[in-house]
Amino acid sequence: MTATDVELSAALSAVRRASTACAAVQGRLANGEILTKDDDSPVTVADFAAQAVVCAALSEALGDVVVVGEEVASDLTDDAQSLLRTGVVDIVSNSFGRPVPVDRVLEWVSIGSAHATTDRYWTLDPIDGTKGFLRGEQYAIALALIEHGQVVAGVLGCPNLPNDNGPPGAIFVATDGLAEVYTTGIARPMPVRVANPTTVADAYLCESVETGHSDQDQSIQIAGLLGITAEPFRIDSQCKYGAVARGDASIYLRLPTSADYVEKIWDHAAGKVLVEQAGGTVTDVDGKPLDFSVGARLSKNRGVVTTSGAFHADVIDAVGLVLG
Ligand code: AMP
Ligand code: MG
Repeated sequence: MTATDVELSAALSAVRRASTACAAVQGRLANGEILTKDDDSPVTVADFAAQAVVCAALSEALGDVVVVGEEVASDLTDDAQSLLRTGVVDIVSNSFGRPVPVDRVLEWVSIGSAHATTDRYWTLDPIDGTKGFLRGEQYAIALALIEHGQVVAGVLGCPNLPNDNGPPGAIFVATDGLAEVYTTGIARPMPVRVANPTTVADAYLCESVETGHSDQDQSIQIAGLLGITAEPFRIDSQCKYGAVARGDASIYLRLPTSADYVEKIWDHAAGKVLVEQAGGTVTDVDGKPLDFSVGARLSKNRGVVTTSGAFHADVIDAVGLVLG
């Protein structure tokens, strides 16, 4: 099970195009271009535009594609949403360098409204970490290919991820036997590899900025049990998986804040395959593999624990003690 070279390069150019489109509008959205969805989470014109751009690029390169995306076109078609529609069409048109008719844009967004019921499909979070995007901070464009319940490839665009030297921005690509990063300003991709500190006490731990997405009080207790004294590194989105994959951090904890929240596949698929191919380990809080075979949600799992690998069992033990 794998992605073809053609699929991988289509996914990379789709995510690259969407990353550029999002970066161009971050910090420039008007109030009317931001909505609150039924689950109280924000969505912006850029989320819809990124979904349209990725679906357009994938279907242009690959023909018919099945894409299980986060956004639904019906949120845009309501008469009251004309400002939102115009904003989306503008971003998509700018991205392609030509005017794209509204119907075409809506068609592209709807490509991404497929259900996770086929044997092989893409899953897309057009802007993962929309709250970070709105704060002017980290966000990611996350695209992954799922085949028979296994994540076989992932591309993660992180337009604001800081780099040691040079401007921010990274796009990670992972598939069987490959994990690499295209860093802004560097022409060639470089392999990425997790970093295992000498002892778990030296690990850097990352987690969500949003206290509603991961229990930060419990993560402090877990860090305490492991002897970790460094402050947690808080960033939005699957950039956390990128940080673990390239060795900036070696633990990413996502600890349930409520018993009824079930994680969504598009929030983890690309990040999981990236970290695993970079040498790390991804499980749920009970140490079980994430099960991508049960639809659009990870209904067989609770939370997520990602590490650089060497001391995964120690982290799971500490998580177990704290979560009970
Ligand atoms: P992050 O930026 O890592 O905090 O994660 C952003 C993602 O958190 C969004 O894409 C949402 O799908 C997801 N999310 C929303 N509510 C919750 C929740 N209660 N627990 C965990 N994740 C959530
Ligand atoms: Mg998300």
